[in-house]
Amino acid sequence: MERPSVESIFSQSLEALQDQFERWGESRWRAGQLMDWIYRKFAGSFDECSNLSKTLRAKLKENYSFYCAPLVTVTGQEHETRKFLWKLEGGDLIESVLIPAGHEDSDRQTLCVSTQVGCPCGCKFCASGRSGFVRNLTVAEIVGQFLGAERWYRRQTGVKEERLLSNIVVMGMGEPLANYENLMAALSVINAPWGGNLGARKITISTSGLAPQIRRLAGEEPQYRLAISLHAATDSIRNQIMPVNHRYPLKELLAACEAYQRAKGRMISFEYILIDRLNDTPEQCDLLAGIARRFHAHVNLIPFNDVDGCDFRRPPQTVIQGFFNHLQQRGVSVTLRQKKGGDINAACGQLRLRKMEKN
Ligand code: SAH
Ligand code: SF4
Repeated sequence: MERPSVESIFSQSLEALQDQFERWGESRWRAGQLMDWIYRKFAGSFDECSNLSKTLRAKLKENYSFYCAPLVTVTGQEHETRKFLWKLEGGDLIESVLIPAGHEDSDRQTLCVSTQVGCPCGCKFCASGRSGFVRNLTVAEIVGQFLGAERWYRRQTGVKEERLLSNIVVMGMGEPLANYENLMAALSVINAPWGGNLGARKITISTSGLAPQIRRLAGEEPQYRLAISLHAATDSIRNQIMPVNHRYPLKELLAACEAYQRAKGRMISFEYILIDRLNDTPEQCDLLAGIARRFHAHVNLIPFNDVDGCDFRRPPQTVIQGFFNHLQQRGVSVTLRQKKGGDINAACGQLRLRKMEKN
């Protein structure tokens, strides 16, 4: 299918639309009304924006697309992790994962969004990395995952006013910092008071460690949180599982993290997938504790989840618990993502991989 020549309405800033409306001889504040329809009422088309005149709606339709990728499947039950598979224009598939808040009395949830179709980084343990790189997502395709989840929620529950999402983690398919401009533009829409209105501290970007882009991010205004996918505490082990480490070895990566922290305060956490007899040794644990303490950073331990065609294994439960305890004894703030979190991340990329293999 051909990609549309008109721009998506979901990649527009309020200011850009205000200027456009003015050029059309419309009031600037009408642009705010349109944003309200998109980001508060989660309208599905220009025609739903009933307080905009027919002429204005016609002009909008001529100049902008309201296209959002349709849902192919949703898996998972209520109060559990749900996985959305979206079909982009052109047929590519991407995933987002909805993660419940973790307590019964809250409907607020975190959405894990993708930034690329596949991933160029090629990490050995990751489904997205193993299936190769296809392309960057556009701004509208990133914002579209947020809108798609909110719209799905409305269809499910019939609620009109209440919001579903309280947090975003950019931890789905792809390396977010390898799609830097589109990511920044999409997050600014999700973050803006006229847009998704999600505070920057509720947004976490996860990276495999592109040091120059981490430094660039340090210079951006919003206070996004940063999760570093460390997964090994020495270059020799990290090189074996993350090709990106050849380009930006630990020393360079951690220096960039320091620059980020100097600019932003304590906004960094480390992700660490535990893989049997690879990175789960006492030596790695000690070194990881040292790094975490140096940054006063939280560590998320994620027991490896099986990936089709990958020989790595999850360590025995006693080893996982021992690794966790040891970090805690060293004074590191640490969480162990059993089941809930673990499944989710590995699942990012997996659903697509399986679907592609079937076709
Ligand atoms: N590319 C970025 C963004 C997220 S990657 C990054 O690497 O940080 C997707 C997430 O899933 C990462 O947190 C990664 O560590 C995790 N993940 C990938 N494969 C996994 C597996 N087999 N088991 C558990 N977690 C996995
Ligand atoms: Fe890409 Fe992240 Fe997967 Fe590595 S872990 S291949 S960086 S998506």
